[in-house]
Amino acid sequence: MLRTASLAACLLVLLVQTAPTAARGRASEARDLLRAYLELDTSNPPGNENLAARFLRRTLNDAGVPTRLLVSPGGRPSLYARLTSEHPDRGALVLLHHMDVVPPGPGWTSDAFAAEVRDGRLWGRGAVDVKSLGIAHLEAFLELHRGRATLTRDVIFLAVADEEAGGIEGTGWLLAEHGELFERVAAVLGEGGSNRVYRERLAWWGIEVAQKRPLWLRVSAEGRGGHGSSMNLHTAPHRLVRALGRLAERRPSFRVSPDVRRYFESVAALQGSTFQELVDRLDEIVASPEPERELLPGLPNYLVDSVQINTLVSGDRVNVTPSRAEALVDIRLLPDTDADRFLGEVKEILGPDVTVEVLLRAPEAPASPTDTEIYGCFESFLSQRAPVVPTFIAGVTDSRYFRERSIPAYGFSPFILDGPDMRGIHGPDEKISLSAFDDGVRTTVDLVRACTTD
Ligand SMILES: [Zn+2]
Repeated sequence: MLRTASLAACLLVLLVQTAPTAARGRASEARDLLRAYLELDTSNPPGNENLAARFLRRTLNDAGVPTRLLVSPGGRPSLYARLTSEHPDRGALVLLHHMDVVPPGPGWTSDAFAAEVRDGRLWGRGAVDVKSLGIAHLEAFLELHRGRATLTRDVIFLAVADEEAGGIEGTGWLLAEHGELFERVAAVLGEGGSNRVYRERLAWWGIEVAQKRPLWLRVSAEGRGGHGSSMNLHTAPHRLVRALGRLAERRPSFRVSPDVRRYFESVAALQGSTFQELVDRLDEIVASPEPERELLPGLPNYLVDSVQINTLVSGDRVNVTPSRAEALVDIRLLPDTDADRFLGEVKEILGPDVTVEVLLRAPEAPASPTDTEIYGCFESFLSQRAPVVPTFIAGVTDSRYFRERSIPAYGFSPFILDGPDMRGIHGPDEKISLSAFDDGVRTTVDLVRACTTD
């Protein structure tokens, strides 16, 4: 008895001593991995995800995990690794992130791929979107592999290419060509979640369950080129500009989609009285002549099909008239918008002088259900720290490819980020607070363990 008691005491001392050491070890391992990951320039285009796939593959193989590299016909790799359980029938949990990043663009105060540590933050393109999440998933996956806990379901680590350009060569291709890898999947955990921080405290976790759908267009015009001094009102640039001018002047129509209403209503209870009043009057506001006047900044995005003319390409000399001009238009549709009808309306506004080519278009996809076992597990684990809200995002992620196939996909960020961290997404000086990163890795490891082991 005494021996047992002292053994137990020793074990306890050992546990108390090793637990923080293990956590510290994991934190520094994760930071090192993130720095190495951020040093790889995977700007899309062209992506160069082979750099990232090689790095992740080596890390997994060194830990004894076999991997599978799947390469699209365009040469874009995705990496797949699976920990198997004795319950494949319960459906796997997929940990999904994308390896590509948007190009750095101008305005950086440091090298976007130097992975510099400054002011307690790690700087680099992909620090928030979304290599930090990839490393948190990797840590959770390795922890399951190294640990002794019994898996209650299979767990898949999936790193994909091409998300930033629509996922056509990444998740889109993988699901179309290698559907067998995702046959028994219960849910996907990927990017897209957003957490509300109020006065430096986490007010709620947001698990994204629905989003807008992309409809990306190339609009082009042709005309006689030549010397820039010749009077000609029907050149390619003139035709294009006139058509786009009409599109830019189009008044968006406001409406409340069911998924958006559900999101606003679930958030309202946690957001204070101003937001609650706004949600109570939402139908009235949306029906008013100028809804944007009454809505808080950012909210119109959730209530319209947005049309953004983002790229204009034509001649490059003031005295030469080019024979072709084109624009890329980024349209984001609400979940229940009829894409055909909307496209028809856009074409009519643009008129007969231009050609419209659809570059990317997503079918309707159901919101991911919140009554699944996995969502329930996420919710009960995370709500120990803050309430959990199923959210809707105005952006798009690869989750849509899974939802189109009725596989529940949940967007969740384990990182509690402040304004400076959030501002760097797709802009200059992307960075992540190291303490937020450590905390997020810990959250992910514990969350994944809680929902996939006994
Ligand atoms: Zn992303």
